[in-house]
Amino acid sequence: MEETSNSPLWRYTSMKVGGEARQLFLPTHAEDLVALIERLKREGQPWHVLGGGSNMLISSDGVDGAVIRMTQMTSLTNPEADLLEADAGTRLPHLAKFAASLGLSGLEFAVGIPGTVGGAVVMNAGAHGSCMSNVLESATVANAESGQVETLTNEQLKFQYRSSAIDPSKHIVLSARLRMRPDEASKIQAKTRENEEYRWRTQPLGWPNLGSTFKNPEPTRSAGFLLDQSGAKELKEGHAAVSAVHANFVINLGGAHTNEILQLLRRMQATVQEKYQIRLHPEWKTLGRFGELEREIWNGNQ
Ligand SMILES: Cc1cc2nc3c(=O)[nH]c(=O)nc-3n(C[C@H](O)[C@H](O)[C@H](O)COP(=O)(O)OP(=O)(O)OC[C@H]3O[C@@H](n4cnc5c(N)ncnc54)[C@H](O)[C@@H]3O)c2cc1C
Repeated sequence: MEETSNSPLWRYTSMKVGGEARQLFLPTHAEDLVALIERLKREGQPWHVLGGGSNMLISSDGVDGAVIRMTQMTSLTNPEADLLEADAGTRLPHLAKFAASLGLSGLEFAVGIPGTVGGAVVMNAGAHGSCMSNVLESATVANAESGQVETLTNEQLKFQYRSSAIDPSKHIVLSARLRMRPDEASKIQAKTRENEEYRWRTQPLGWPNLGSTFKNPEPTRSAGFLLDQSGAKELKEGHAAVSAVHANFVINLGGAHTNEILQLLRRMQATVQEKYQIRLHPEWKTLGRFGELEREIWNGNQ
């Protein structure tokens, strides 16, 4: 298992922002990870789990304790005709294309989501009218409290809109079993390609970002629509700006500091609050040393 000290974390998030972690670990197997958790517990070191870093705002002031990055655990198999088994570090675009090539339907929605399977289970990632909970049969997790490896069923994971019962400070997703629907490969591949091309047209893919900033407050009213109508596309703070392509995307114009990003989020919330009296709640997770402003923005988040 790779282990480094004082690692700059900006490299490992799609926002390209983040200070150092005292230690960074990259486990390659479930056994490595379980042993690592036991070791960190013995040493009394706090630890945090990072997947693809595509939904995680990492403080520019760094992170206390160890960071465990799951992206080296990437085994992907097809043990039964309609079943896929993917390790936590498998990237969703790769998984979606693999499924399509085998004539397995159900993951066409995931092709444009740049996270890992572990992060997607935690977040119940979704797009194009579907989400992980529609295909996930069970997840294997390491329980950091008991030291045991457990299998949690779809029902036990209590999926909701962009959330699950998994608390990454206690449970680390090791792998997932995905139950698929066999269909014509060419049809599935065409749908997968269509979803991928839709992303290129509608998202600011050239700029570092973390996808949707805020959750949709209601299924019929998207955060992007409310922000757009409130004039949020004009907002900018230092090196961070609201994308001109999609009002629910914040982009790093180069060298943004998390203080600038937080100031921008506060202003985005305020514009929608003022026009619609609706409070937007962030979809992103945060990691590292933050102050009062972060607590204020995330206050009341589910
Ligand atoms: C351009 C772009 C487009 C996006 N589009 C979408 C979209 O359409 N739909 C959508 O839902 N999301 C979207 N996202 C957000 C993001 O890709 C998803 O939320 C994704 O599921 C996050 O996965 P990750 O591996 O990057 O997780 P991270 O950002 O690394 O972590 C997210 C959370 O999961 C936890 N976590 C990660 N891995 C594990 C693990 N193995 N075990 C336990 N906890 C873990 C972390 O601790 C953190 O709490 C987009 C992001 C970008 C940048």
